[in-house]
Amino acid sequence: MRSNQDNHMIDKYQIEAHTGLAIKILAGQNLRITDIEGGQVVDLVSYSQQNSQEYLSSPRTMDFNNKIYFSSGDVLYSNLSNPMWSIAEDKVGKHTFLFAPCDQKMFEITYGATKPHPNCFDNLSSNLALFGIQPEQIFVPLNIFMNARISENGEIDIHPPRSKAGDFIKLRAEMDMIVGISACSAYKSNDYSFGPIRLEIISR
Ligand SMILES: [Zn+2]
Repeated sequence: MRSNQDNHMIDKYQIEAHTGLAIKILAGQNLRITDIEGGQVVDLVSYSQQNSQEYLSSPRTMDFNNKIYFSSGDVLYSNLSNPMWSIAEDKVGKHTFLFAPCDQKMFEITYGATKPHPNCFDNLSSNLALFGIQPEQIFVPLNIFMNARISENGEIDIHPPRSKAGDFIKLRAEMDMIVGISACSAYKSNDYSFGPIRLEIISR
């Protein structure tokens, strides 16, 4: 859906719980990701439209920012060390960039699933395939709203997301990209409840 608010063109999408979407974004546009009901983790991956071998990179981003949690003002880098996103606004204040997208195997290993379970990897790969991105090109997503705490001795503790209903993060695109986004289905990361996500691409 497209609307015009305060002279900004806004394209709106909604991702229902346990689903995903792939979209294109242009340099200079902003992507606002809103946790409609609160407590919902979102996985985001992205690829250069000019070169799909250039993708959003967790290790490069941690290296250049010297940290593992990200918020307003941080720049997120590609595997070729180019800026891909800037975090323009953030109502939550902490996002991780550490975990692979949940997949069928994770649900079998971690939760003992015996039947097909919705998961971020399938949501991302099926939607990104529409833009020619292969499953093998999916690495570590930005784990938006995910509340992981790392202790001094390296233990990871997953806490419920800190995002409340209506909280959002706004990312400014620094290059033309294909973006994959998934509403995560992992139980612990989402405190055992799942909700929809709103996406808005804002152009001036
Ligand atoms: Zn997930």
